[in-house]
Amino acid sequence: MPEMRKDPIRDEWVIIATDQGLKPRDFPINKQGVQIAGSQATCPFCEGNEAMTTPEIAAYRDECTRPNHPGWLVRTVSNKFSPFKLQGDFHLDRSGLYTSHNGLGQHEVVIETPLHGLQMHQFSLDNLELVYRMLRDRYCALAADHRVKYIQIYKNRGLFAGASIEHSHSQVLALPMLPLLHRGIGEYYYRQGRCLLCDIIDQEQRDGVRIVYENPSYLIFCPYASRFSYETWIVPKKHQEHFGFLSDEEIADLASAIHTFLPVLVESLGDPSYNLVINSSPVNLPGVAGYHSFLEINPRLMVQNGMEMSCGYFINPVAPEYAAEALRQSLQDRSVVAAG
Ligand SMILES: [Zn+2]
Ligand SMILES: [Zn+2]
Repeated sequence: MPEMRKDPIRDEWVIIATDQGLKPRDFPINKQGVQIAGSQATCPFCEGNEAMTTPEIAAYRDECTRPNHPGWLVRTVSNKFSPFKLQGDFHLDRSGLYTSHNGLGQHEVVIETPLHGLQMHQFSLDNLELVYRMLRDRYCALAADHRVKYIQIYKNRGLFAGASIEHSHSQVLALPMLPLLHRGIGEYYYRQGRCLLCDIIDQEQRDGVRIVYENPSYLIFCPYASRFSYETWIVPKKHQEHFGFLSDEEIADLASAIHTFLPVLVESLGDPSYNLVINSSPVNLPGVAGYHSFLEINPRLMVQNGMEMSCGYFINPVAPEYAAEALRQSLQDRSVVAAG
């Protein structure tokens, strides 16, 4: 039975897939080099290979086509290898010093395109809009289950970001409890009675030095204490607690911001691995206030080192002010080329 176990020293939860075990040489990083498995013939996410995934949960597809068959544009299935299942109730187990809980939750994969080689920075605006509509709709569907308390959406692109399949996809993880991240948001709201991120937007707009791009609904900037080199946040300017509350128009503005910015980031950094994360308010929990949904793109240009593993202090060799200036310049150069 899959479970989450608590490390009593660090007070952190760890997901343990107790019903599957990789052998020592099954891991993708080995002494021969690095690789991500999957060619078009064997890729479970390619159009035509629908039988290789779990049954379809949702899809945008041509009207005359059937579920679990070709003809889709964006497709959601459950993660075949996830320890999480949305079955039964949440329960804690204690054994001496150790605490665990059952793997209650839901882990879904959103396959973002039927085409194997196409990556998100190459998507059309329409494709991006469909991806973010699907992610919003899955967020809302999972939030309707009262056992779900937090929904984390994330994308792993490239081996150093944790991707195990090359075909472009995002993941939606619905959890029965809150991760301990973002404590500052709640503490600030408790002290000041205001949204921290709304105030950060004000300060960033006043300072100006870390802003990369702006459209009517979104601000893109490199955060003051960036953990990763060229880390970038995409923040809705209007206070918005839940990613699931975004209207179709706001999704279109988000897709437009990503369509403009992501190719610049990817090309500037030489096609790096990256994680794209969507943060949002907890769901089905009363008394949680002050959250402001936002996206972060974290390029994985360096492998996590001993300091980060032990102290939790990230070391970033690129100041966010410099990163923002370089990205602004790349955006400008690209728009000059496009206009020319
Ligand atoms: Zn594929
Ligand atoms: Zn806010």
